[in-house]
Order: sequence, then C-alpha cells, then structure tokens
Amino acid sequence: MFLKHKDEIEKAISEKVSKICPLCGHSKFTIDGMEFHHASFPLNDPKFYEGDFSGVASIPCVSAICNNCGFIVSFSLPVLLGKEYNQG
Ligand SMILES: [Zn+2]
Repeated sequence: MFLKHKDEIEKAISEKVSKICPLCGHSKFTIDGMEFHHASFPLNDPKFYEGDFSGVASIPCVSAICNNCGFIVSFSLPVLLGKEYNQG
C-alpha cells in the first residue's frame, strides 16, 4: 500500500529521532513510500500449512533509508502516527 501520510511520517520521525542511522549517525533520511508488515507466522499450527492465515499477527511499518550510507530502519506506523494512522 502506498502511504498517504508521507509528510506526517517524515515530520514524526524528525521530531522523535535526532540521529536516525545507528551506523553512521547521519540524520537525513528518505521514506520509501510503501507500507509493509512485520509478520509473525504460527509455524506450529497445522492450519497455517492448509492456507488458514487467521493466526498471523502483523505490525504495519514504514522504512526509512539513511541518505548517507543506505542503512534501512523500520518504524511502527501506529506508534508514529497514532490516531491519524488508525483513521486511515
Ligand atoms: Zn547511515
């Protein structure tokens, strides 16, 4: 899903994080514009292997790419945007 809150995401990250890159310490970043999910799969549940994904949990996230070295970090969208994310 393309992110429609890209400006709000960049603002929230800038307000909450002073040095985004843990490798080079750079503070400038680029948001890739796509929402993705960190997912947890119930590998010990036989229903999962039959195509039942009801036990899959996920966290909606966005990636930020360091403009200096290219390191990629991810942020939870509900934490960054709060109510704004939940309202779509
Ligand atoms: Zn970096």
